[in-house]
Amino acid sequence: MKDIMPVSGQFAMPELGYDNLGDIISKETLSFHYGKHLKAYVDNLNKLLPGSGLEGKSLVEVVKKAEGGMFNNAGQVLNHTMYFEQFSNSPRQMGAKLKGMLERDFGSVDAFKKEFEQKGTTLFGSGWVWLSMDKDGKLVITQQKNAENPVTMGLTPLLTFDVWEHAYYLDYQNRRADHLAALWQIVDWTVIESRL
Ligand code: MN
Repeated sequence: MKDIMPVSGQFAMPELGYDNLGDIISKETLSFHYGKHLKAYVDNLNKLLPGSGLEGKSLVEVVKKAEGGMFNNAGQVLNHTMYFEQFSNSPRQMGAKLKGMLERDFGSVDAFKKEFEQKGTTLFGSGWVWLSMDKDGKLVITQQKNAENPVTMGLTPLLTFDVWEHAYYLDYQNRRADHLAALWQIVDWTVIESRL
């Protein structure tokens, strides 16, 4: 996966390769989720960095070492950066390598998607469902609470769906499962494979 370094002591908002995601995530949700929620996490993290002892560290290093409010904000910056960067309104298809890995570890790509959606739907409260690769190269799905990221468990995160209500409530209200099922249409699999 790509790590992120601060520039002049500050982490930046990720740049998006799109200004809309069709009907899957509305422009209104995008403007709140990216423009307000993520912006606040980035601003809070940058305010907490000076004097923390973690100045100049990469974002992954900060997530691994920070605690409390600093962990929450750094985790959310990393999680949302990976989330927003994995989508496209002209997404590229999955290649043979990742397809083979998913078939090996879940039986089929469809079985993987079903389990991923199910784990996202059944995560109680706020958090993230992740596909990661472990140190042996095996793919695993984890449910993570709040701002957690699989890097703290020694995993390599590949794909994530945000199940905080702010990710879908304007478009889908309480229908989290419908939102998660729709997200596959905008996943750019070339980005996911670049994180292997
Ligand atoms: Mn979010």
